[in-house]
Formats: sequence, structure tokens, C-alpha cells
Amino acid sequence: MSRSVFITGGNRGIGLAVARAMAADGDRVAVGHRSGEPPEGFFGVRCEVTDPESVAAAFAAVTAEQGPVDVLVANAGITRDTLLLRMDDAAFDEVLATNLQGVFRTVRAAAGGMLAARGGRIVLMSSALGFLGSPGQANYAATKTALVGFARSLAWELGSRGVTVNVVAPGIIETDMTKQLTDRRMKDVMRMTPLGRPGTAEEVAAAVRFLAGESASYVTGAVLPVGGGIGMGI
Ligand code: NDP
Repeated sequence: MSRSVFITGGNRGIGLAVARAMAADGDRVAVGHRSGEPPEGFFGVRCEVTDPESVAAAFAAVTAEQGPVDVLVANAGITRDTLLLRMDDAAFDEVLATNLQGVFRTVRAAAGGMLAARGGRIVLMSSALGFLGSPGQANYAATKTALVGFARSLAWELGSRGVTVNVVAPGIIETDMTKQLTDRRMKDVMRMTPLGRPGTAEEVAAAVRFLAGESASYVTGAVLPVGGGIGMGI
């Protein structure tokens, strides 16, 4: 059955790969985009996750176009990397506002309809490096691990109504975000990665598709690593 899917930060990178994978399954997919134009062939809604009004308007637009959201992929995220003593309040706050509060806001907007429908799928985008710790990424790692406590609390709150809440923890994936990594850091991380290569956005999308699908009907509160073995799922 075709479901109403909404993906934040769906205009590029992992979000776009998820949008393509879900659309290929026949779902009605709305792509949240903060800037620029939506990718061709998708229903795009402007959605700045740090702005409550933008999130509310995006959900209203998605609902009007394709019905209440059955599947939310809270994917939008940023980095503002620097070492602790150089990290100013803005670098910390911006990452929190996007990666944690933005997720809270979008999940809350989606959950009401899912509870009423007595079913739904919520998938949050964490990071394997969050669990391992990553120099220069204290702000980012703090938000990405926080998503697990958030997801697991909601797994309890929403489970009795058939709504699952799961987390994907990618390792290093080739997108614009990881273009910022120095060669040295990339080599260091690859040494910690048994498969010895970065992953692709499509490989992450496959995990999201599983968690969002019927096959994962008995999976909630889980963290699914997609990191070529980095951290072995820690
Ligand atoms: P990209 O930088 O390629 O894309 C990030 C997406 O998030 C863009 O669509 C961007 O929109 C959107 N976004 C950022 N801030 C906001 C905001 N405030 N409101 C709405 N949308 C926003 O990153 P990836 O595709 O690599 O990352 C996607 C997710 O996966 C992130 O949460 C990231 O932390 C996570 N991740 C990525 C890994 C990797 O190695 N690439 C590894 C582990 C996790 P815009 O185009 O307007 O900037």
C-alpha cells in the first residue's frame, strides 16, 4: 500500500537517496528542503527544522498533498566542527537546534497523526561516530547519541499504538558532509572500518527502507549501524 512519507533534508545526500528508495517502492514521498529547489520528480516542501512555523507549515502542506504522514525520516543534520576550546556558543547551539530540537519538533508534528491512525514509522538519523566520540565533533556527537534516548522514550510512548521509532547510525558516507573531512581524518576512520571504504547514501537508504517497511513491524527502539563495521555497532 502506498504510504505518505516525509523526509527532512531530503534534497541531497542521504535524504535524497532515501526519497528515491521509498518512491521506488511506490510510496508518496514529500521531500523537505531548507534551501534551493526540491529534486526533480518529487513533491517538495520548504522545511527549516529550526523554525517551528516552517515545520508546522510543511506538515500542513504534506498532509494536504498526500495525507497524514505515515513514515517520517528525520534526516536533516549539520556539523560545526571544531575543538572544544575553540567552540563558541553559536557552533554548539546551531548543531543542537538542528540535530536535536529539529528532530523533536518534526517527530512531534508527525506523531499525532500516527497515533490517530494507530500505526506509523519514525526513523531518526544518528551517527556511528557519535557513539565512538570524534575529536572536533563534541557538539555533533552529543546530539547524535541523544537521539537514542529520545527514540527509546518514544518507542515506549507510541508502541502500544503501533508506531515504531528506530535509529540508523551511519559510519562515513560519501556526501557533501564528509567532503569536509581531511584526508588524514578519512584515513584514520577507514582504519577503524573493517570494510575499509566509505559507504554510499544508497546503502543507508536501504536500512531506512527496512526500518520504515512492513518487514520491521516488530522492531522498535533499535539502533541499526550502517558503518562498514565501524565500532561494531556500539
Ligand atoms: P548533507 O550535508 O549532504 O545534507 C544535509 C541535509 O540536511 C541537506 O538537505 C540540508 O539542507 C539539510 N538541513 C541541514 N540543516 C537543516 C535545517 N536546519 N532544516 C532543514 N534541513 C536542514 O548531509 P548527509 O546527507 O551526509 O547527512 C544526512 C544526515 O545523516 C545528517 O543528519 C547527518 O548528520 C547524518 N549522517 C551523515 C553521515 C555521513 O557520513 N555523511 C554519517 C552519519 C550520519 P540544505 O541543502 O538546505 O543545506
